[in-house]
Amino acid sequence: MTVTTISSASNRVPKVPLFVLAGAIAIGLVLMLPLDGYTVSIIMQAATYAIAVLGLTVVLGYAGQITLAQAAFFGLGAYSLALGTLDLGLSFWVALALAVVVSGAFGAILGLTSVRLGGHYLAMVTISFQQIVTLVLTNWISLTRGPDGIAGIGRPSILGRELTSNVDYLIFSIVVLTLVIISVWKLKSSRLGRRMEAMRDNEIAASVTGVNVYLTKVISFTICAVLGGLGGALFASGFSYISPDQFSFAESIVFLTMALLGGVHSVIGTALGTLLLVLLPEMLRFLRDIYLAVYGLAVILIMIFMPDGIWGFVTLLSDKLFHRIAARRASAPLKLAKNETPSSAPVLEVETLSKHFGGVKALDNMGMTVSANEIHALIGPNGSGKTTLVNVLTGLYKPTSGNIRFNGETITGMAPHALAARGLARTFQNIRLFRSMTCLENVILGAQRPGNDLTPDGGNAEARALAALAFVDLLDRADDLVGDLPYGHQRKVEIARALAASPRLLLLDEPAAGLNSTEKQQLVELLQRMKALGLTILVIEHDMPLVEQVADHITVLNFGERIANGTPAMVLRDQLVINAYLGETHVHAAT
Ligand code: ADP
Ligand code: MG
Repeated sequence: MTVTTISSASNRVPKVPLFVLAGAIAIGLVLMLPLDGYTVSIIMQAATYAIAVLGLTVVLGYAGQITLAQAAFFGLGAYSLALGTLDLGLSFWVALALAVVVSGAFGAILGLTSVRLGGHYLAMVTISFQQIVTLVLTNWISLTRGPDGIAGIGRPSILGRELTSNVDYLIFSIVVLTLVIISVWKLKSSRLGRRMEAMRDNEIAASVTGVNVYLTKVISFTICAVLGGLGGALFASGFSYISPDQFSFAESIVFLTMALLGGVHSVIGTALGTLLLVLLPEMLRFLRDIYLAVYGLAVILIMIFMPDGIWGFVTLLSDKLFHRIAARRASAPLKLAKNETPSSAPVLEVETLSKHFGGVKALDNMGMTVSANEIHALIGPNGSGKTTLVNVLTGLYKPTSGNIRFNGETITGMAPHALAARGLARTFQNIRLFRSMTCLENVILGAQRPGNDLTPDGGNAEARALAALAFVDLLDRADDLVGDLPYGHQRKVEIARALAASPRLLLLDEPAAGLNSTEKQQLVELLQRMKALGLTILVIEHDMPLVEQVADHITVLNFGERIANGTPAMVLRDQLVINAYLGETHVHAAT
């Protein structure tokens, strides 16, 4: 049992009771303060908007996907509720369910069509979607009643009491908002939420640690749309009148600004931003003619000086001012999945594998076999195709031709997350970590790869991650942001992330690059300990003394072709290898 004390943040404060308390206080204030009708309706608007803006926390804050169509989903929810109750004669609750389903379905469709796009293209697709919804709402008059809008939308009754009074309806909205805040907050530390954040931080690293990025994007768009629709439905019922101009592109921009202003990564920030942007124009009305200019200027200034939003700024400040409580981290020894493959049976078989980039034959008809529980080194000059091989093996590149078998199963052309689920783990030549996360969170992503629940630690991803961190000797940095670690330690975190996935084959792409000689020696020892645990390792490395110390088997690549293969003693004396890669000096030094 390894135990360590750490000095930095441990955010394990139970927040759910706090959110419930905040909701209760808000309701108490609404009941006790003598609010005039106008103020009540302003707060009602803020509450229903906030539900929709929390959708942006999920899609933009967690998953890192831009959308400029949230007002469209808000509108789909509002119109579903209005038409459901008025034209279809549904009860409020059934119509509310309809609103959520309709907007969720459109969210999924938007997600599906745009998952392969990113950045500007994704933004443009969402803008187009927004415009289509606006056009349909305005012009399909027989269904939506066109620009005149829909009036007379009803209110629900709860326990036999119809919420006709605005104060009652406001309380109902605050309850729903509190539930949404708690759900979105809980999502952040759930498996799905971590996958979203991993995808946002580094899509490639996420996919090879087992995150199905397409599915995760579609889910995040769907959740976003569902919250948009829910907020819109409550808005429609609250104000009893809706029209297309309330759900225009301009409103989508307002939603986005609300999320960014408060801090899109946190539920508190989002709620704060929404409240502020609804209240600010009201508070500035005394300025009369110049109020819009002052309002715009205030928003711009906040965004410039608080890039992570107001809440991001507040947390940054409190981190600096207050010394966080020290937490103790303990871990059990790392256990890996039992490799069912008998020793010396092939774990990986590569046959006549080619990968061509236009005219460049990065891999050409190459073959190799990695046996169970060996450290297999892959060496060769720069540009000989080593990284390309690892990229093909982990599904990041589709091979031009050839065949790959992993534990007897043909895996050629499978997606990265599917390969990760089969126990293939890797590190990258250029470190790819999830920069906004702590070391522990990075490693948990590895630990929660699909199919890892059957390993000795059971389903406890955090325990397994702590064990992996302890194994690479970084338990004391568990709660530090990964970007704050020195380079050598970051390499180790990447190894720990791969180890936590209980890999059946570990691929290391130049793990010693950039390490000093002490760190290299630690790496040798680490590799030997991993082998002792029963792991099978394919390691790409330029450092020949290191390779000689650890390798059981060496394969040499040159211009994408295998030029040698065998035990270190054989390969390092091979004349072809000496000519292509090692040079005469190395051999003299070695003998
Ligand atoms: P190594 O890891 O052995 O140094 P790489 O596998 O990175 O070599 O590269 C092998 C060859 O493939 C190089 O000529 C490189 O330029 C080319 N290559 C690798 N990836 C790509 C890519 N995504 N697009 C085009 N060419 C690539
Ligand atoms: Mg390389």
